[in-house]
Amino acid sequence: MNIILIGPPGAGKGTQAKRLVSERGMVQLSTGDMLRDAKTSGTEMGNLVADVMARGELVTDDIVIGLIAEKLDSLDGAGAIFDGFPRTLAQADALEALMASKGSEIAHVIEMRVDDDALVARITGRFTCANCGEVYHDTTRQPKQSGVCDICGGTEFTRRSDDTEDALRTRLMAYYKQTSPLLGYYHAKGRLKTVDGMGGMDAVSTQISDILTN
Ligand code: AMP
Repeated sequence: MNIILIGPPGAGKGTQAKRLVSERGMVQLSTGDMLRDAKTSGTEMGNLVADVMARGELVTDDIVIGLIAEKLDSLDGAGAIFDGFPRTLAQADALEALMASKGSEIAHVIEMRVDDDALVARITGRFTCANCGEVYHDTTRQPKQSGVCDICGGTEFTRRSDDTEDALRTRLMAYYKQTSPLLGYYHAKGRLKTVDGMGGMDAVSTQISDILTN
């Protein structure tokens, strides 16, 4: 089963996607992670998108559609969780065509709804384990043992360069202007489900599980 998680930055898409990977053996396809990897490895494309990402703007459709097309070829039957893709109507159309060409489809599009004020607080305190990507927060979720990742024992943590208030404002504007029209797009296809993303991680996981099992 393939699903899309859709929501503003800080809604918890990545966190929930990681849970689905470990609980259901699905594969997380995060275009944000793919772009950050390209940036870190210093590829031509990575260098090209670095400034756009730092400002919080969207990179071009061609680049992200190309990244997703490449990954879809190596899925091997596992269910995909699209995390941060599609973000524009052109990307959504491209995904429909790609899935159809593989005789596959998107079963559910899950909107994670969170208030803007909560997003700012979540994003500006967020840090992740540099080894496994587990997400923590300065005030709401510190590792059990200070400086040591609960999941993998890693001791290095990173903060995203676009998790600043300025970049977040641009990212939120991009979400409401370019991505939120997708809610109507998928609603019209009868695939849109909405979860309340304001609760704790477990409460959100339960709502998503209910959607996937019904
Ligand atoms: P994310 O990790 O999903 O918050 O993405 C981080 C940044 O990567 C975004 O602010 C964009 O600059 C870029 N990005 C990720 N996914 C996409 C996408 N589907 N379309 C355009 N830009 C994207």
